[in-house]
Amino acid sequence: MEFLRPASWQEALAAKAEHPSAVPIAGGTDVMVEINFDHRRPDHLLDLNRIGELEEWETGEDTVRLGASVPYSKIMAGLRRELPGLALASHTVASPQIRNRGGVGGNLGTASPAGDAHPALLAGGAAVEAESVRGSRLIPIDDFYTGVKRNALAPDELIRAVHLKKASGPQQFSKVGTRNAMVIAVCAFGIALHPDTRTVRTGIGSAAPTPVRARTAEEFLAAALDEAGLWESRKAVPPAVAKQFAVLVAAAANPIDDVRGTAAYRRHALGVMARRTLGWTWEQYRGHGSEQGSTSCA
Ligand SMILES: Cc1cc2nc3c(=O)[nH]c(=O)nc-3n(C[C@H](O)[C@H](O)[C@H](O)COP(=O)(O)OP(=O)(O)OC[C@H]3O[C@@H](n4cnc5c(N)ncnc54)[C@H](O)[C@@H]3O)c2cc1C
Repeated sequence: MEFLRPASWQEALAAKAEHPSAVPIAGGTDVMVEINFDHRRPDHLLDLNRIGELEEWETGEDTVRLGASVPYSKIMAGLRRELPGLALASHTVASPQIRNRGGVGGNLGTASPAGDAHPALLAGGAAVEAESVRGSRLIPIDDFYTGVKRNALAPDELIRAVHLKKASGPQQFSKVGTRNAMVIAVCAFGIALHPDTRTVRTGIGSAAPTPVRARTAEEFLAAALDEAGLWESRKAVPPAVAKQFAVLVAAAANPIDDVRGTAAYRRHALGVMARRTLGWTWEQYRGHGSEQGSTSCA
């Protein structure tokens, strides 16, 4: 196995163009597990750790451009206000050691349906900045996940950054696992209220072949909030609306039975998380409530 250590982004792109099957390694918290278990034996590893810009972020007036390798611990500490959903999701990843190494670029590279960043990225309306020697493009997050552990990157492309709009309203994330830390999600749910556009976006994790949005639920809720004038009045969401939102979120999932949980349990848990996170975000929008997300034991 050859170990490539580019010193700059341009060198990394050139190396990926020359060796399209080279496996990028950032924090290594997924890659090294695969190599240690002999699930993968690449000819080339492409180490991105000398490229400092991948661990930085830039905040514009309305957006954040998050370097692919910014570790979860820095997202939690530095981007809580701008990206509350992603910060809450970062809190639930593994352990402090993994959160100091792993980042969103690696979660996207692996594209596991159980990756914790995905529901927050879907709810936040992210775009993935992918680049190769041929040029750069922004991939809307809705188009990024193409199958189980598959993504839209071309063989010669690398993820440079993720673009997200700064939160214009409350965001929440909830995850169910078999214990409260160091756990792969049985299922997870992210929600973002976007009062500026009077829209709601969601993300479901670990309950379909890819991370998915609950689009019908989003449309139903946005219409219900609009029709009742709740964005303006900030009155409580009627229980019947919250209940129907939960039903539609559960229906958007396409889960399987596996060692972590049954399909029926996942659908049930998603409905519960949808109702709860809607309650938390709406209370925040009304000026009450805390920013705390949750991890629950199954
Ligand atoms: C003990 C343990 C517990 C874990 N718990 C969780 C958890 O609770 N939740 C969770 O979501 N994940 C968990 N993970 C998985 C892992 O930590 C995350 O997926 C993390 O985000 C990976 O980031 P990384 O930088 O370490 O990626 P790496 O391992 O370096 O890379 C992961 C994949 O992304 C690719 N890649 C990395 N950077 C780029 C780039 N810039 N461009 C293109 N491709 C790239 C790599 O080639 C590889 O395919 C856990 C892992 C371990 C070992």
